[in-house]
Amino acid sequence: MKTKSINFKLLSLMISAFLLTAVSVILLTDRQINKIIDKSQYETYSEKADSVIGFISRNYQSLQDTLMVEAYEEQFKSKAIETMRSDYYKDMGPHKYIYPFIIDGAGRVVMHPVLAAGTDMSKIDFIKQIIAEKNGCLNYYYDGQQKWMTFKHFEGWNWFVGYTMPLDVKYADSHQIRNTLILIVSAIATIIVSVLTIILTKFTKPITELTKVSAEMAAGKLDSRINVNRSDEIGVLAKSFEKMREAVKDQITLIRQKNIEQTQTLEQLGNEVAERKKAELELEKINKDLEKIVDDRTSNLAETIEKLNSEVAERKRAEETLRRSETKYHMLYDTTSDAIMMLGDGKFFDCNKSTLEIYGCASVEEFCSKHPADFSPAKQPGGEDSLTLANKQIAIAIEKGSSHFEWVHKRADNGKEFLADVLINAMELDGKKVVHTVVRDITEHKQQDIIQKRRINYQNTLLKMAKLENVEMDDTLKAIIKEDADTLGVERVSVWFFNEDKSAINCENLYTLSKKTYEKGFTLQAADYPVYFRSMGDTRIVAANDAWTNPHTREFTEAYFKPAGITSMLDVFIRVCGTVVGVVCHEHVGPMRQWTLEEQEFAASVADLVSIKLEAFGHKQAEENMKELNNELEQAVKKLEETNQELKNFVYIASHDLREPLRKISAFGSMVQKSLSGKIDGDDAENLNFMIDGANRMTKMIEGLLAYSRVSSKANSAETVNLNDIVDQLRQLELSVLLEEKHTTIDIPQPLPEVDADPVQIRQLMQNLIANGMKYQAKGNTPQITITSRPAADGMARINITDNGIGIKPEFQQAIFIMFKRLHSKNEYEGTGIGLAVCKKIVERNGGKIGVESEPGKGSTFWFTVPLAKTVMDNTELVQNSQKELL
Ligand code: ADP
Repeated sequence: MKTKSINFKLLSLMISAFLLTAVSVILLTDRQINKIIDKSQYETYSEKADSVIGFISRNYQSLQDTLMVEAYEEQFKSKAIETMRSDYYKDMGPHKYIYPFIIDGAGRVVMHPVLAAGTDMSKIDFIKQIIAEKNGCLNYYYDGQQKWMTFKHFEGWNWFVGYTMPLDVKYADSHQIRNTLILIVSAIATIIVSVLTIILTKFTKPITELTKVSAEMAAGKLDSRINVNRSDEIGVLAKSFEKMREAVKDQITLIRQKNIEQTQTLEQLGNEVAERKKAELELEKINKDLEKIVDDRTSNLAETIEKLNSEVAERKRAEETLRRSETKYHMLYDTTSDAIMMLGDGKFFDCNKSTLEIYGCASVEEFCSKHPADFSPAKQPGGEDSLTLANKQIAIAIEKGSSHFEWVHKRADNGKEFLADVLINAMELDGKKVVHTVVRDITEHKQQDIIQKRRINYQNTLLKMAKLENVEMDDTLKAIIKEDADTLGVERVSVWFFNEDKSAINCENLYTLSKKTYEKGFTLQAADYPVYFRSMGDTRIVAANDAWTNPHTREFTEAYFKPAGITSMLDVFIRVCGTVVGVVCHEHVGPMRQWTLEEQEFAASVADLVSIKLEAFGHKQAEENMKELNNELEQAVKKLEETNQELKNFVYIASHDLREPLRKISAFGSMVQKSLSGKIDGDDAENLNFMIDGANRMTKMIEGLLAYSRVSSKANSAETVNLNDIVDQLRQLELSVLLEEKHTTIDIPQPLPEVDADPVQIRQLMQNLIANGMKYQAKGNTPQITITSRPAADGMARINITDNGIGIKPEFQQAIFIMFKRLHSKNEYEGTGIGLAVCKKIVERNGGKIGVESEPGKGSTFWFTVPLAKTVMDNTELVQNSQKELL
């Protein structure tokens, strides 16, 4: 904690008290002075305002005296103001901010050094206050300045005279007095602080001294002395302190003495303890050394024991291994299927069990009693003498350590020979050179090898056959039977196929191996060989080792086998889609032959291959036929398209070109009719009429044809068409005359939908159907046409055009859509019979259908369907969906 000296505290207290008093005095004085100034200024400026009012009232009185107040009032006012302005405002000098002014009762300026007379100031707060209070003084803020004024009221003219000045001018004297006061107070404060500091320092010095000596004593300096020679209370305090210091010093010196003595005793004790500890440490060290020596000896002993143990274990292991390997060797020796024998000095002296079995000996003694030459034929397959060759192999083994070769052996019991794999090892046994021989019978192994090789050969042949890519079936068959004969080594291989009614088989091809020739054209009748033909359906393969006696084949012996020298037969029947269609025959010439399983399998695969090839050729043939048919079809379609185009062009051009002469006939006919009018009679006139009528009709028919051909030749793409608009246009243009003539109305109860169609064609369609409805009416009947619509399947709209006409019998309701089909003569109803054919074509081109529902005498409804416009469909879907949602 920071200590503040008494000096500082007292000084701060006194200065604060002084400053507080000084500030209070200054403030009070200032207020008092201001009050005095306020009073004296008010009196002064009230007088000044009174003098102004005095001047005004004099003028006022003079005006009253004239007895013509109204006449001279303004003049008097102006004059008074003018005089006052020149008195007060001219040469305003340093007091230019102290001036009088006048306003009237309405707050307007009457006289002011700056503001013009008449300026309205009634809205300003201090003006309002002046008018309300009439006499007095106030502080106010105007024109960026804090001001003060006194004001007086002159009742005569209801004027208010104000005398104004800035506030700082008003209080200038007061400010000066205040500043002087502050200066004086500051000076007094400085003096007081200095004097106080000196007094306090003197007063507090002994205390400081006391504090210092106390601190030194606490730090151990017992000789510090206090230098205070005073007779007051502080001097007494200092002396008492000095006495106390002396007493404390004596006490402390005594205690220190005792301390030194005790310390010396402790030191002695410490030395003794240290010496004892040293002796203990030495003892401990000697113990440790002893322990170490004991440990070392013990561990050496343990190591030696461990070594001995591991040596014993190692020896045991080696013995065990030896025992095991001996057992293993004996097991191997006795249980192996290989013959193992030992030969020394040209004689066998040991052999295993397998040796006895392989060589046909009853005991080891019997085997060892025999000479090695007894177990071999005289010669080996290479023609070399067995004994010489055997000695050669032994010599190689002795020289090189071992010899490996194949050897033909002979059993001792039955003399049967067998091929063996022999491994000879030369070695030393008890200082003697001996031969250790391992013999393995490989006869079976060799045979398996041969079979395997044959199988691979068969597979390769089949693969070769499968890859054959002959254009003609005949060539393929030839190649197959040749490969077959070569692979199996069969003299005659042939392929036979049934005739159509399966009453015979015809030889498609026969290959003779020795001659390398092909033959064909033989036939075998089912009636002659019934058993064989029956077996064709029952079995897949006939393997007759002895063909002459085999129940399936013996029928052929006399007539077929014997003349050709055939002894064995291997026949496999060819099936296509489960039906037997022929046979692959293998005919062996010479001694009878055993057909092995592999040979039979191979032959069966050959037959399968023939079947596959047959099918492939069948497919190929079918494909080619199909291709040809397609080509023909394409040609026909192309031709048809060309013919169609030609026809269209012809119809169009012909219709065009035909109209010209017809128009001429009609025109000139009419001219002749006119010029001969009255000159020709009866029949001639009628004939001429017929001619002109005929020409006109022909023209109409041609126009109809043109319209028909235009439907497909001049079709526009579909667009959204409003059917209501179409009917309106027809009403106003194409059908307007007819509708008027026949007093017909077209009724559309519900608006028709928008559809996607060719607009020109749909207009033509509607026109034809409405016109027909008006035309085919009973005499005197007023036609009535109604057009309705309803949605149809697949986004179509069905449009119905109903009339109240003569109707159509059911049997004609289809026919009327055929070109030129009419149900009435031209005398009954004009027409060409083309209109409805055009309608049909238009509807079909727009993807719709057309038809009629009618009852004779009750009118007809012609209907057609047309695709609804896409927008209509979307809206319909929308409505349907929202209906669903509502439900
Ligand atoms: P056209 O009217 O020129 O004879 P169309 O092809 O238009 O040829 O009509 C073929 C035939 O179908 C007509 O001759 C008529 O007998 C019959 N027909 C067409 N429309 C109607 C109908 N609204 N009422 C009765 N019969 C009709």
